[in-house]
Order: sequence, then structure tokens, then C-alpha cells
Amino acid sequence: MILCADPKAQYISYKEEIDQVIQDVLNGNRYVLGENVEALEENFSSYIGVKHTIGVANGTDAIEISLRSLDIGPGDKVITVAHSAVATVAGIEACGAIPVIVDLEENFYTLNPDLLNQALTNDVKAVVAVHIYGQSSAMNQLLSFCNENNLFLIEDCAQAHGAVYDGKRLGSIGDIGCFSCYPTKNLGAIGDAGLITTNSSSLAKKIRMIREYGWVDRISTIKGRNSRLDELQAAILNVKLKYLDKDNQKRNVIAEKYDSLLSDHMVTPIRRPESNHVFHLYVCRLPNRNQLKKFLEEKNIFPGIHYPVPIHLQPAYHEKIKLASPLKITEQIAHEILSLPMFPELSLENVDYIIETILLFYKDYKC
Ligand SMILES: *Cc1c(COP(=O)(O)O)cnc(C)c1O
Repeated sequence: MILCADPKAQYISYKEEIDQVIQDVLNGNRYVLGENVEALEENFSSYIGVKHTIGVANGTDAIEISLRSLDIGPGDKVITVAHSAVATVAGIEACGAIPVIVDLEENFYTLNPDLLNQALTNDVKAVVAVHIYGQSSAMNQLLSFCNENNLFLIEDCAQAHGAVYDGKRLGSIGDIGCFSCYPTKNLGAIGDAGLITTNSSSLAKKIRMIREYGWVDRISTIKGRNSRLDELQAAILNVKLKYLDKDNQKRNVIAEKYDSLLSDHMVTPIRRPESNHVFHLYVCRLPNRNQLKKFLEEKNIFPGIHYPVPIHLQPAYHEKIKLASPLKITEQIAHEILSLPMFPELSLENVDYIIETILLFYKDYKC
């Protein structure tokens, strides 16, 4: 059985080291926000190239807490996309702001910067750019728009750990970077975890306060919450961070193999020239997506769909968010996208088997 993502395979790859650090944490006497969290925050800062990293409980919290640290809340609006994990919009809503949705760039499935102007009103305070599937948003255009209009730029890097745009790691370009370390992500824990990156010392200080009840010396001085990161997850992430570049490289080798044999039949991922892609997901576009998915499942290959229903069409959100433009591309691609199996431990033999099976589908169905 070949899954779309396989976090257990990654545990097995680094089992010895992971088992050891788990034992060390169990035998220590601090289980939450201790030395492993501190080490992870330092290691991740130097990896991304930022001054500060703050560990939090998950990626949704990372987005919510980042917005709160910028004093964004009820009465404010935040521009983002509907082609993402629900978490992006959930994080915006959790701080009390209203998400304003714009459509995508057709080639890259990221926020279309040409549509920002029509989404802009006085109460818009920030843009949350989602680096979907492991590829950067149009950062230069987003940065100049945000600078011209006095908006904060937050990067949703939950699918883009390690990706580089114009020589800089994603998460070091906007005001704040938000990472999820959910088990299937490029840097995945064995449970929930999140990381926030920033170069601003004052924001970092505020984010640290918000993640633990707004405390200064154990007195709540601003409104906060509990979004602490635990030592087990931090210790495991410290092990895996060492291998992140190598694992992203493996994802790229798999992607190139898929590209070379499938691009005649379907739209394979188009890379943004000024960035490298870290292939959190390898997503193709084809009209008969559902048929191919079923065909592969019969052969024990389990692709995914990220995401089948755009966020603005999901029941919990369709009345609460504001659309700034028609979401033509967002709605169109939801019917056409298919995520082929993609994880560093996927063997090249299995990649060959997946490709052969797809080619067989095209032969059988004569499409
Ligand atoms: C996974 C993900 C998140 C949120 O992460 P959680 O840790 O599950 O809260 C946010 N945005 C995107 C694009 C994601 O893929």
C-alpha cells in the first residue's frame, strides 16, 4: 500500500536517534517549554535566518498568535486565499478579524498579487500569504504592495519548511513566518507543534507572552492563552531539522521523476523561477482526476486531494468570509487537482510503479 504521506516511515528512518531523545526527555524533569524547546528555537532561527523563533502548540495557533501580536482583531480584515488548509482561515478568525479572500495565480496556485488592490479597504491590516505545496508566493510583489499600503505580511509556511525565495528562506521575508510541524509536514513532529519566526525583537517578546497567558513574571499583563510547545515534540524536531535539507532534496528527486514521465498527460507542478520548491505535496491537474484516483486506489496507491472544497464553500465559513473577487481559479482547480504520493522515504521503485500505473490508466482510458 502506497500512501500519499507516510510519517511513520520517517520515524523508522531516524528511529535510534528519536528513541534516544524521547528517553532523555522522559528522564528529565521538565516536559513543557524547557531546554529542548529553547534549543529548537535557536536551531530553527539559524536555519531560517531570522533573529527569533517561538515554539507554539500548532500551526493554527501560530497564525492566530502572530496576528494578535500585531494588534489585529475584531473590526480588522486580513487578506488571504481559500485554496489552503482550513487552518489558515481558522487562525485569522480566531483572532477576531474577518478573512478577505482573493483568487490565485493560475500557474502557481498562490495568492494573485494583481488582485490585492481590489481587496484593499481601510480596515485591511495584513496579508497572509500561503506558500502552498512547498512553493513560494510572489513575495516581491506582495512585499511592495504591503509596504506601499502599510500592511503587515505574514507568511503561512506550514507547507514550505526550507524553501528559498531569492536567496532567502521562506519565513524570513515577511514580518512574521508561521510554521506547522504536524506529522506529515516537511518538518514534522510526532504530535502537534508549531513555530513562529520573526526578526522583530518586540514582536518576539509579545508572541512569547501571548503563548503563555500574557505573562510577565507569572502575572498576566496582556491577554494571552496557552499555546506552549512540549519537550518531546521539540526534541524530536531537533533531530529531524538536521535532515530537513536532505529530505527536501529527496522530495525533489521524486518530483523530477514524476515530471519527466507524466507531463505529457497532465499539468505537472510549474516552479516559480525565483524560488526552489520543497514539494510538501506533488500536485497535478487533470480533468479526469476522480477516475484516475479510483484507478490508482484499486492498485493500492492512495493519492490525496488538497483540497477538495475551497474554504469559502465549506459550511462553517461560507457566510463568515468576504470574497474580494470571483474565485474562478480557486473553484476550478478544486475539481482537477490530485496529490501523488510524496515523502522522502518513498522508494524510487515505488515511484516507478506509480508512474507505470498512471500510464496504464491513460492507455486503458485512451485519454
Ligand atoms: C497544516 C497547515 C496549517 C496548520 O497547521 P496545524 O498545525 O494543523 O494547525 C496552516 N496552513 C497550512 C497551509 C497548512 O498546510
